Amino acid sequence: KTFIIDELLDSVIDIIRQSNPEFNIIIKGQKGIEVYADEMRVEQVIINFLTNAIKYSPGTDEIHINVDLIDNKIYVGVRDFGIGIAADQQKSVFDKFYRVEETSIHFQGLGIGLFITAEIIKRHGGEIGVKSTLGEGSEFYFILPLNSDTDAD
Ligand code: ATP
Ligand code: MG
Repeated sequence: KTFIIDELLDSVIDIIRQSNPEFNIIIKGQKGIEVYADEMRVEQVIINFLTNAIKYSPGTDEIHINVDLIDNKIYVGVRDFGIGIAADQQKSVFDKFYRVEETSIHFQGLGIGLFITAEIIKRHGGEIGVKSTLGEGSEFYFILPLNSDTDAD
């Protein structure tokens, strides 16, 4: 149940690249951080962040994954350079079925991905959030204790 975060990120990036070869996805920050958690769930979270980052960043070709160690917790942030989210909507994007109204006509979706993602992170005793500027891009992140399995299921 222990895994190295970069190895998981590398395998997820490989999967995403098959359908989005135009995107250059770069891992930044600390390497070799070992996490004890439900790897399949963490993979699902990263896939959700990355597919959103690609979907909401038309006309761009770069995505950064920022990895850091903070107070014995791991930070993973998926940074895009896409449409961004206005400050007053940033909290709501984690709600069930919520979609940003101004842009929802241009992008297909149900508004369920981030809700599920937030549930997974909360169940692991972690924290989820977004930093974003409208028109400049977003960084969706999670912070998980390095040993988070005690809170799972
Ligand atoms: P799906 O259920 O298929 O994932 P969705 O992408 O619309 O549909 P969420 O992933 O839950 O749903 O995201 C909710 C909303 O948050 C989106 O509709 C979009 O308005 C906004 N959003 C999510 N990720 C980003 C992003 N990287 N950049 C800009 N807006 C985003
Ligand atoms: Mg989505």
